[in-house]
Amino acid sequence: MKEIPSDIGSKRARVVLQECGLINDPTALSCEDIAYSRGVTDIKALNIDGSQGRIMIDGNEAIISYDNKIYNEGKRRFVIAHEIGHFELHRELLNNQVHNDDEKTLSEWYAKGPHEKQANKFAAELLMPSHLYIEKVGGQIFNLDLIKSVADFFQTSITSTLIKYLSLGDFPIAIIFSNEGKVEWSSFSNDFLLQYVPKGMDVPENSVAMDFYDGHQLPNEPESIEALDWFLHDFNVKKHAEVGFYEQCIQLGDKAILSCIWND
Ligand SMILES: [Zn+2]
Repeated sequence: MKEIPSDIGSKRARVVLQECGLINDPTALSCEDIAYSRGVTDIKALNIDGSQGRIMIDGNEAIISYDNKIYNEGKRRFVIAHEIGHFELHRELLNNQVHNDDEKTLSEWYAKGPHEKQANKFAAELLMPSHLYIEKVGGQIFNLDLIKSVADFFQTSITSTLIKYLSLGDFPIAIIFSNEGKVEWSSFSNDFLLQYVPKGMDVPENSVAMDFYDGHQLPNEPESIEALDWFLHDFNVKKHAEVGFYEQCIQLGDKAILSCIWND
């Protein structure tokens, strides 16, 4: 049985959900209404270049802004939830400051320092309370349709929903994000057989991801691949040469895709 996370960010989010009466129904209030009910004084969509969100705290005033060029509703909700996280966890620290968040502070893989990680954990738990998430995915075979339906339920982005699956799903998976044919980041369930794909690596020749970069349509179903296709830099790859792996991809931008990989 998977456990509810006990890090400081997730714990604080669960307190907020409890106090707002949302613990079993996290979409009953918009992120904006949650923020206002906690004491945020204003939320604005602005043209912010180079950042996706920001919070400005000055005594009793707290203003959250997010970039008006974020078109994905799940992402927009995550950015606001991240800023609510700073408001809940780092209010004193950020007093008299403007804190800016960009692609790096908002992602699990680049976020430096404890505060960004705490705000990201907070956001993931606020939007997808773990006990509900476990109910949704428990005992179900992994596939992207499952993740899409969970993302629909929580009104979250596919990426944040997949990240949560790494720790709460019943099937170990790897997720690899590539852009213009190069790996930008990867992340793994703790019990996935292989754990290493170097950043900057070219998308491998025989992968489903490569088909996409070659101009083909992404298949709707998972396809068989071999461990060596993606994991040739992992020391343990030879041990798992006989294991059958699957890859299924989802397009996230003009030239960006996320590959999900799991085994039999
Ligand atoms: Zn931040």
